[in-house]
Amino acid sequence: MEWSSPRDAAMSLTDLTATQLLDRLRKAEITSVGVTQAFLDRIDKVDTTIRAFLRVDRDGALAQAEAIDARRQAGKPVGPLAGLPVAIKDVLCTAGEPTTCASRMLEHFRPPYDATVVARLRAADAVLLGKTNMDEFAMGGSNENSAFGPVRNPWDTDRIPGGSSGGSAAAVAARMAPLALGSDTGGSIRCPAALCGVTGLKPTYGRVSRYGLVAFASSLDQVGPMTRSAEDAALLLSVVAGHDPADSTSVNRPVPDYAKAIKQPLSGLRIGLAREHFGEGLDAEVERAVREAIRVYESFGATVREISLPHSKYAVATYYIIAPCEASSNLARYDGAHYGYRTDEKSMLAELETERRALEVAGDRDGLEAMDNALIRMYRRTRAEGFGPEVKRRVMLGTYALSAGYYDAYYLKALKVRRLIREDFDKAFEQVDLLAGPVTPTPAFKLGDKVDDPLSMYLFDLFTISANLAGIAAMSIPCGSSGQGLPIGLQLQAPPFEEERLLRAARMYQSATNWHTMEPDLEK
Ligand code: GLN
Repeated sequence: MEWSSPRDAAMSLTDLTATQLLDRLRKAEITSVGVTQAFLDRIDKVDTTIRAFLRVDRDGALAQAEAIDARRQAGKPVGPLAGLPVAIKDVLCTAGEPTTCASRMLEHFRPPYDATVVARLRAADAVLLGKTNMDEFAMGGSNENSAFGPVRNPWDTDRIPGGSSGGSAAAVAARMAPLALGSDTGGSIRCPAALCGVTGLKPTYGRVSRYGLVAFASSLDQVGPMTRSAEDAALLLSVVAGHDPADSTSVNRPVPDYAKAIKQPLSGLRIGLAREHFGEGLDAEVERAVREAIRVYESFGATVREISLPHSKYAVATYYIIAPCEASSNLARYDGAHYGYRTDEKSMLAELETERRALEVAGDRDGLEAMDNALIRMYRRTRAEGFGPEVKRRVMLGTYALSAGYYDAYYLKALKVRRLIREDFDKAFEQVDLLAGPVTPTPAFKLGDKVDDPLSMYLFDLFTISANLAGIAAMSIPCGSSGQGLPIGLQLQAPPFEEERLLRAARMYQSATNWHTMEPDLEK
């Protein structure tokens, strides 16, 4: 069925938000097949340039859409997201479908089960469009660490979309999907959301199940929505949040109906600005946009005060100990024996034989004794070939920091600082309801600009990683545009399990401004 309504005739289905699409689907003004086809067409049109998707499941998506339409037409009950397409970051397991984490290591891996969030989407009758590109194993902030090539920012295709959920952010920004899921370990939802001009929410640690989310740093990882508006984020979060017996770190607390709650504005809001988030390194245009957004809240009657997060200056250093330590442990499973990539064994055995002969000819007994056996060589080659350079860097950093003699000095010390960072937030939230500030220090930079400088890449996470270390809820919403027309994000942070407060505050802002409705011009 073709969708046409005289009022919106000029608009295409892909211009509508998820909430608007859902409303029309419920009224049977449009069909899920029509919606799904519109997004697939859009992907065909723009994704050859953007490269947001690693895989698009055209047939599967249309078949799901058809089944949902049939159920609806037959008057049978349908789920809360019935007929809405969703893009999934390729770090989430989809049963029987490739789940690569943008790594050669998992290039041919098909998990035997769905991540809990994916199962919940299916149960809600969402249509799974495909899997989005990302930094390898979610390690990175620019998407340049994908083994399958970078994603491009829809606002300027010479620039990065941010990472690691850059594919999900770009897919939503470029109208290739109305909803997407990302994951955030140190900023991976909020950073690309800010740089692509979409709304992204990192839930409280424990709010959303991590079962089937391929682990990077297990004490920091969370799955969350990336959407066109706070309303859409509420819709998606309501479906994926909640306790899961398969993830012991998911918390057993009732899930509010975010989509309903969001309609209530907040009154008497007390907003805190962390002194440490407005200092050195913050681009003047970003600061101006963020301060302007805060004035919008003041115009609603919010009170604003300066607060301090004194330990936030240690956040980057702390994160880059804890995250690599956990990663080095989590990634030990990629050994070529269980699953994933394995080096070519024939050439490996030939290599060992050549080495052995050379050592024999040289009479090098010590060398012969020290030689790898075939199993060790298989591990070594598999990991050398399967992982990209950033993943190797993290595994080495983490292995070093966890090794005997260094564990206390690095890992244990970092855990103590993490505690202090958490306490800073506890104190701040005794005085204010929300914290507001920048998401990234600058708008999107050019592809290639920081690839040779890991430290400056790490510093890009300056404002986002403390929320992961503290486990609190945080969000990015579009709040401005740079002189070059690049999106700027506003970060809102709330105490644990106050996603509802975040969403209501975000919706208040979006009801008075239209930064979130801006669309990149991809026709040029
Ligand atoms: N950019 C950060 C890193 O490289 C955060 C990544 C993430 O949140 N997954 O670790």
